[in-house]
Amino acid sequence: KKVIVVGSSHGGYEAVQQLLMDAPDTNIQWYEKGDFLSFLSCGMQLYLEGVVKDVNSVRYATPEGETAKGAHVFTQQEVTSVDAAAHTVHVKDLKSGEERDESYDKLILSPGAVPASLPVEGKDLQNIYAMRGRNWAIKLKAATVNPDIKNIVVIGAGYIGVEAAEVFAKAGKKVTLIDILPRMLQLYLDSEFTETLEDVVSKHGITPAMGQTVQSFEGKNGKVSQVKTDKGSYDADLVIETAGITANTAWLKETLDVDDHGLIKIDEHQATSAPDIFAVGDATQIKFAPTGGEARIALATNARRQGRIAARNALGENVAITPVSGSSALSVYEYKFASTGMKEGTAAKYGVKVASVFVEDTYRPPFVPDDAGNAPVRFKLTYDPADGRVLGAQIMSTQDATANINAISLAVQLHATVEDLAYADFFFQPGFDRPWNIINIAAQKAVAAMK
Ligand code: FAD
Repeated sequence: KKVIVVGSSHGGYEAVQQLLMDAPDTNIQWYEKGDFLSFLSCGMQLYLEGVVKDVNSVRYATPEGETAKGAHVFTQQEVTSVDAAAHTVHVKDLKSGEERDESYDKLILSPGAVPASLPVEGKDLQNIYAMRGRNWAIKLKAATVNPDIKNIVVIGAGYIGVEAAEVFAKAGKKVTLIDILPRMLQLYLDSEFTETLEDVVSKHGITPAMGQTVQSFEGKNGKVSQVKTDKGSYDADLVIETAGITANTAWLKETLDVDDHGLIKIDEHQATSAPDIFAVGDATQIKFAPTGGEARIALATNARRQGRIAARNALGENVAITPVSGSSALSVYEYKFASTGMKEGTAAKYGVKVASVFVEDTYRPPFVPDDAGNAPVRFKLTYDPADGRVLGAQIMSTQDATANINAISLAVQLHATVEDLAYADFFFQPGFDRPWNIINIAAQKAVAAMK
């Protein structure tokens, strides 16, 4: 059997690992159009802040290692089209310019996405960067130590924009963080959390400029010098655009069904509209557990899970993927937060009626001093007021309480209710938490509110 895998990031990597594990005799051809196999953008902040020293170590796989395991690895080779009826792909060798067709029995696509760039005046000026992939990582790293770059404007206050802002503020730059939405991290956290985070980033030299639309980039000598919004002008020696992504699917539109965002439509087996072609990762739709509907959630965790499922189905199994809740975590200076599923701030977008309870507690029993690892914890649990079904949660502390969100993600997946969580069996040990876990406390409050 010959399986072709396109894309070497999270989705493609997992598909190849599963194929190697389950059917090592498979003829696996693995294509990456870039010159570097398996760069992990998730590790970029650690590299830019100097925690990880070598940009080339931010990966899981090397061509040599994967070849030794039995895969045929092709870098700087782009798959430019698919002939679904003939079961062939067209491949262009970007080094030699040579082109050829390759046949497949099964095809797994993980072409991912590229950062969106704002279609405004001045968009072609120099020093307008993005934050994704190894090439941008290298350019951004150089900018952190470039003394001519003093003012940075980051556009998009989602988790990538916040990572970028923190990197450059820590590098001593003056940073402005712009977003069209009224609050930073609005899709991840409600205002009980973001108000604190906006104060925290301001204290560290990042100016949040929320609720503004970028109208143009002004330039001097071909380089960007200012960002103009509908509410103000901001000096910029460097702009970093982190306002969304565009699926890498233009080359597939004739072959596969895609939605209005260019996301490949897939079923629960990761199968596309064409026979024997599977698709995974940021280029695909994904089922959102709280609603059961389609969503766009670009996360490595999703791509990896989908890659595994696609490979198993390509090998003849019949496995369905579980819907996801978009669970994610981030640190913002001293704070660590995580969230999953529905928030009050996103419920309207999904057309869902929700109720929430908010709890502020201490991480460990009150008698444990802060310098021994205690701190306040904020937790918000969101549920369906009609039947108590758990729909999502958010947590934040200067201590690391983020793992609680994984329990909520599972609760959403299993259609658990606040009743189920109110007295759920969670451990207690003063070195770790309170006699009642914060999830129990919030769920008990929700049960009382529903009476
Ligand atoms: P991509 O990562 O987009 O990779 C696609 C690959 O396919 C690319 O290498 C591309 O060159 C190649 N390719 C595309 N088309 C072709 C073709 N036709 N032929 C050959 N090769 C092709 N997610 C998390 O869960 N946790 C995190 O902490 C996290 N942090 C992040 C931080 C940053 C700065 C960024 C940018 C993203 C982060 N993400 C995180 C999101 C995560 O990186 C993406 O969800 C994930 O990379 C998606 O993987 P993918 O396989 O779909 O595609």
